[in-house]
Amino acid sequence: MLDNQLLKIAQDFGSPVYVYDAGKIESQYKRLTNAFKDVKKLKLNYAVKALSNISILKLFKSLGSGIDTVSIQEVQLGLAAGFSPDQIIYTPNGVSLDEIEEAAKLGVKINIDNLSILEQFGTKHPKIPVCIRINPHVMAGGNANISVGHIDSKFGISIHQIPHILRIVENTKMNINGIHMHTGSDILDIEVFLYASEILFDTAKQFKNLDFIDFGSGFKVPYKPGDIETNIEELGKKLTARFNAFCKEYGKELTLAFEPGKFLVSESGYFLTKVNAVKQTTSTVFAQVDSGFNHLIRPMFYGSHHEISNISNPKGRERFYTVVGYICETDTFGNNRRINEINEGDILSFKNAGAYCFSMASNYNSRFRPAEVLWYNGKAHLIRKRETFENILNNQIEVDFSTKIEKQLVK
Ligand SMILES: *Cc1c(COP(=O)(O)O)cnc(C)c1O
Repeated sequence: MLDNQLLKIAQDFGSPVYVYDAGKIESQYKRLTNAFKDVKKLKLNYAVKALSNISILKLFKSLGSGIDTVSIQEVQLGLAAGFSPDQIIYTPNGVSLDEIEEAAKLGVKINIDNLSILEQFGTKHPKIPVCIRINPHVMAGGNANISVGHIDSKFGISIHQIPHILRIVENTKMNINGIHMHTGSDILDIEVFLYASEILFDTAKQFKNLDFIDFGSGFKVPYKPGDIETNIEELGKKLTARFNAFCKEYGKELTLAFEPGKFLVSESGYFLTKVNAVKQTTSTVFAQVDSGFNHLIRPMFYGSHHEISNISNPKGRERFYTVVGYICETDTFGNNRRINEINEGDILSFKNAGAYCFSMASNYNSRFRPAEVLWYNGKAHLIRKRETFENILNNQIEVDFSTKIEKQLVK
C-alpha cells in the first residue's frame, strides 16, 4: 500500500490501527495455488490463529480457501464466517477429549496428535474419521520457540510410535483419513521440508483409507529488502512431482493440503502508530509511539524484525532511532533503525503486521486494543472498532467493601 493511503487511514480512523491489504492476501493465495497447479486436488486451509478477524475469514472463504483451527472457539468463528464444517480442520494440541468431541459433533475434520486421546476417541467414536499429526523429528523453523518438529517438542505423535498408532487403529477399527505434519515456522531450506515429506509418505503407506496428506506450513516470508524467503515455486515443482508419484504408488488421487498462516497474511499488514515523544538520552534518540507489546509483541517475544518507516515525513533526512512503546516495561520495537527524521505527532508504519500481531494483542496497562481496517477494492473498511473503556471493565465484578471484614479464627 502507498504511504499516503496509510496516512489517510491513520487520520480517518485514529492510531494505533492495523491495516490489511486484501489484494496482497489474494495474490499470496494465488501464488501458492499456482505453485501447486499440477496437483489434481489441492486444499489450502488458512491458519486462523495468525489473524482471526471474521472479515478476513470471509475474504478467505471467497477465495475458495478452507481453514485450519486450533481451538473450539476458532471452529465456531469459522462456522460464523460461513465455512461449512467440511472446510474446517481442527488441529488442537493439549486440549481435552471433551473439546475434541465437541468439534467432532460440529462435523469438522479432526486432527489428533496424542496417542492417549487417539485411543480414547477411537474407542468411543470408531466411525468418525480422524487425521493423525505426525512428528517427523526434523529440525525446521526459524528459532526454538517456533520450531515444533524436534524430538522434545510437545506437538505430534512421534514417527517412532507408529507401531502403537497401528495397534490402536486395529483394535478400535477407527478410520484414519489423513496424515499431517507441521514442523515449525520460517522454513528456509526446501530440502529439509522435502526430507520431512518423505517421512510423511513412508508413514502414509501404512494407512489404507487416506483422503489427504497435510504438509502443514511454516513458509518464511521476507521481513526486509533482500531477505530470504521460502522458494514456494521451487517447492511447488519438487513436491508436486513427488506427491503425484506417491499417489500413483498409493493407487488413489489424494488431496494435498497446506495450512499457511504467515505466508498468506504477514505482508498484507501494516501497523500504524503515532509518535508521542522524541526523547534524546546520552546514547540514543528514542521515538516513543502510542503502542507497545500490548499491541505488537513479536519483536519482544520472538525477536522478530518489522521494518519501520516514517510515513509522515518520507523525504526527511535519515537519522538513527530506537523505536519504543509507552508500556511501563522495556518494549523495544527496533534498535538503531535508520528512519526519516521523526517529529512528535508523526505516523510510523510497521511492516509484516498481518500475522500474529493483532491476534496476540492484549489489554496490558489497561490500554485499548487497536482498530482494524481492511483495504479492499480501493477503499478502507473498518473491520474492528477500537476498544473503549467499557471493554476494559467488561466481565469484571465489583465487591462491596462497605461491610466489615469478618474476623477469622486463628489457631
Ligand atoms: C500455527 C500453525 C500453522 C501456521 O503456521 P505459519 O507459520 O503461520 O504458516 C499451521 N498449522 C498448525 C497446526 C499451526 O499450529
